[in-house]
Amino acid sequence: MSDRLKFMDEKIQALKDDGVYRDLPINYGPCTNVINLNGKSVVNLSSNNYLGLANHPRVKKASMDALEKYGVGAGSVRTIVGNQDLLEDLETLLAEFKHEEAVMCFQSGLNCNIGTIQAITERGDLIISDALNHASIIDGVRLSRADKAVYKHNDMEDLERILKEKRDDYNNVLIITDGVFSMDGDLAPLPEIVKLAKTYNCLTYVDDAHGSGVLGKSGRGTVDHFGLHGEIDFIIGTLSKAIGVIGGYVATKKNVKAWLLHRARPLLFSTALPPAATAATIESVKMLMESEAYTEKLWKNAAYFKQALKDLGFDIGISETPITPVMIGSESKTMAFSKALLEQGVFVSGIVFPTVPKGSGRCRVMLSASHTKEDLDKAIAAFEAVGKALEVI
Ligand SMILES: *Cc1c(COP(=O)(O)O)cnc(C)c1O
Repeated sequence: MSDRLKFMDEKIQALKDDGVYRDLPINYGPCTNVINLNGKSVVNLSSNNYLGLANHPRVKKASMDALEKYGVGAGSVRTIVGNQDLLEDLETLLAEFKHEEAVMCFQSGLNCNIGTIQAITERGDLIISDALNHASIIDGVRLSRADKAVYKHNDMEDLERILKEKRDDYNNVLIITDGVFSMDGDLAPLPEIVKLAKTYNCLTYVDDAHGSGVLGKSGRGTVDHFGLHGEIDFIIGTLSKAIGVIGGYVATKKNVKAWLLHRARPLLFSTALPPAATAATIESVKMLMESEAYTEKLWKNAAYFKQALKDLGFDIGISETPITPVMIGSESKTMAFSKALLEQGVFVSGIVFPTVPKGSGRCRVMLSASHTKEDLDKAIAAFEAVGKALEVI
């Protein structure tokens, strides 16, 4: 037998030696408040299904109707024959929802970032990115021919230092930030970023994957939350998190959309979203536009859970959103904490280095409108028992 791939065994052994090797857990059903994970019924505190729409009957019905009418696949990239009318409908609806001129949809949030950033920047430009921006932004920036700079997380003095030093050396300067940071649940200081962008004549780009469907009126996002409509040049949202389906989009100006159709590589070289997913997304967005009940329930659940954990003495970091990092510390203790919660019937993934800095391991709780009070109480009791057993509280 050839051992050409022996280097893989060595790499995997290194992961095992570091205690970070893992098998994928298997969910034997839909993404709901309680799931069957590896054959065990557990309260699911680790999905991005913020509003419980991933398995909502109305969304499923819309998806099944589209499946009957349009089949299962788009059959081509959008620029050939994959541009089914549902996609046009979705973009019109999203532009209305976001109060922006135009929306361009991609197959995922990741695709949107790697396609858009590269297309809107070129040699002679500078991209300035927050140090904690999402991996798909980092990859998008890497694909661009522009120069790159990174400012300390949410540090406006550091951003201004870079602007002072470098602005005049470049044509366009693009400032990129997450709207909501996924590891800590904190918000970008968008009003300050917009102010600096005006002073130094820069473009602004906000990836609002965790803000869409969560913050602002009916989940219109972080830009709506701060009252900054019209001030951000590129607003990225995902359809895979609160919206409950799959896909990503950029809300922007019509001319940007027209350019992306010619230069965004995921649109040119990867098949369009499947129609059943597009139809499901349309229904989800309509539901958000009709009612604030979903976002209200999410925030109510988040407030209840966060207060209970604070009262128990847990450190839940600097979160301003339903993302709740329960700080544990060392990598091994974090993983042990997550495992002990699972034994109590509660699934919360442990997040450790290299996803977060060494020693800042956490069990990150993702709350959802789908959780019942019983689910949350069960989880709170499990946190109390494990927290005491492992001497975290
Ligand atoms: C999750 C996430 C993405 C990726 O979105 P997908 O639709 O899952 O590909 C992009 N950016 C940020 C900030 C995210 O949190």
